[in-house]
Amino acid sequence: MRELKEKILEEGVVLSDDILKVDSFLNQQIDVELISKMGKEFAEHFKDRKIDKVFTVESSGIAPALATASELGVKCVFGRKKQSLTTSEDVYHSSVFSFTKQVMNELIVNKEFINEGENVLMIDDFLANGQAAKGMIAIIRQAGANPVGCGIVIEKSFSNGRKLIEDMDVEVYSLARIAKLEDGNIEFAE
Ligand code: 5GP
Repeated sequence: MRELKEKILEEGVVLSDDILKVDSFLNQQIDVELISKMGKEFAEHFKDRKIDKVFTVESSGIAPALATASELGVKCVFGRKKQSLTTSEDVYHSSVFSFTKQVMNELIVNKEFINEGENVLMIDDFLANGQAAKGMIAIIRQAGANPVGCGIVIEKSFSNGRKLIEDMDVEVYSLARIAKLEDGNIEFAE
């Protein structure tokens, strides 16, 4: 997606050869117009897959997931990382290793929000080693639903997340693919 790549080049900060900071439009401040274009792009790509629900992980996945769900006319569900007082006892959960925080997190979803037989589209802000997406797939499969695809805003193609997810028979569609982060520079894959 051209506008996203331009935004990454203008505002992305390369923190190391591994981490890109995009707080100015995705991870803290949100560029609503750009996010809504992302939603259109994901919805257009997955429109023939009969999506029943969009699923993401709090918090940075929520904005692009919401924009996509709005375009598709379906509900958006996000997994919580911590049990809250309002989370019911009846939950699906899986363990996810957090790339940015380097700790194990739980991913928790009330059972009532993902149902057997539903076609679920996953959306997330970044794809690195695929652990967040793998955790979402585990929950979708526990529910007896179908993970029909994984929409990623920024894929770090130098990590092995895509292979992990494709090996689980789930399509990965990314709006921007980064081949290399080196010496403060960003190199796109295509
Ligand atoms: P994975 O689970 O694929 O290893 O990592 C994906 C998750 O880690 C995303 O949900 C995202 O929150 C975070 N993440 C991974 N790499 C980056 C990065 O370079 N920058 C930012 N801001 N978040 C990242």
